[in-house]
Amino acid sequence: MKSLRILLPALLLSAAAFAQDPGDAALLQRAQRLHDRIVSIDTHTDTALELIRDSVDMNRVQASFPRLREGRVDCCFYPIFTEQGPLDEASEQAAFEKAIGQMKAIRAYIEARPREARIALTVKDIERNKKKRHLSLVMGLENAYPIGRDLSRLQDFYDLGTRIITLCHNYDNDICDASRYPEKTWGGLSPFGKELVREMNRLGIIVDCSHASTQTLYDCLELSTAPVICSHSCVYAIKDHPRNLTDDEIRAIAAKGGVIQVTTGRWALSWLPADQVDIGTFCDHVEYIRRLVGVEYVGIGTDFDGGGGMRQLEDASRMKDITVELMRRGWTDRELELFWGGNFLRVMRAVENAKK
Ligand SMILES: [Zn+2]
Repeated sequence: MKSLRILLPALLLSAAAFAQDPGDAALLQRAQRLHDRIVSIDTHTDTALELIRDSVDMNRVQASFPRLREGRVDCCFYPIFTEQGPLDEASEQAAFEKAIGQMKAIRAYIEARPREARIALTVKDIERNKKKRHLSLVMGLENAYPIGRDLSRLQDFYDLGTRIITLCHNYDNDICDASRYPEKTWGGLSPFGKELVREMNRLGIIVDCSHASTQTLYDCLELSTAPVICSHSCVYAIKDHPRNLTDDEIRAIAAKGGVIQVTTGRWALSWLPADQVDIGTFCDHVEYIRRLVGVEYVGIGTDFDGGGGMRQLEDASRMKDITVELMRRGWTDRELELFWGGNFLRVMRAVENAKK
């Protein structure tokens, strides 16, 4: 009873902020109970670099530890983002050293706060941390540019905890072609990129094709011995942005057992003005993928602190409101469990098994 007295005002306040409908308070309570039980995962943010800046304004960090907790997120990906420079050895060496330094810094930041969060390397780590009520953080790279053309660097990143790599950002690099620009240097994966994907399979690192060109994605799907994902991408049929995924691309990722993690930035969600893009728009993308290939192939990667977030989902503290909206649309608890983490954990397990 005592705990209910503490809990209720918070529940009602939070419900009032989101809901107009009195039925929504009941949905929010159902959502809270569900989140107690399931593992909720956000597979992409750019938060890591925010936290290791010299001066951090925590009010501006969208996926800070307290906000993730409030939103009921159990596991968040904190990759190191690297802006791409010229494709020469000296520039790539400098990018490598910088990214290694940043990864060490974010590791140190997390390790200094063991009561708040833990680095997770495996599915088992994520599940154990959930039981112990620790937030899991997964390390990775957004843009493999710092690897240059040196395969040994992959081991260095792996040893620091890297378990996912987004192969490129907005420009073609030495590994593959990107989706945004027409150069198409390699016609998909480069010869070195193919070696890199094989080595990622061998070590057990997830291949992430968000930002990659269509042919890069198809090359990865053909070559990889494990499922391939897009950690933060939306549906091209809803918004025809080159970063988004066509129906054929979505079908191909699903056929290989991968998952499409829908992102939350207005740039990916809709051409409508910002005040008309909200959690409902996001859920339209999620439901499109569910209709096209099934609920087993969709999840969420917010891109918070890197362009993610919109009306009603300004930061991670409101993530559970997505659960409320999907419940309102008739989603079952089992479907929500798959969306929030079941699907992604299946992929991560398959990547771990492919390594063996
Ligand atoms: Zn990105």
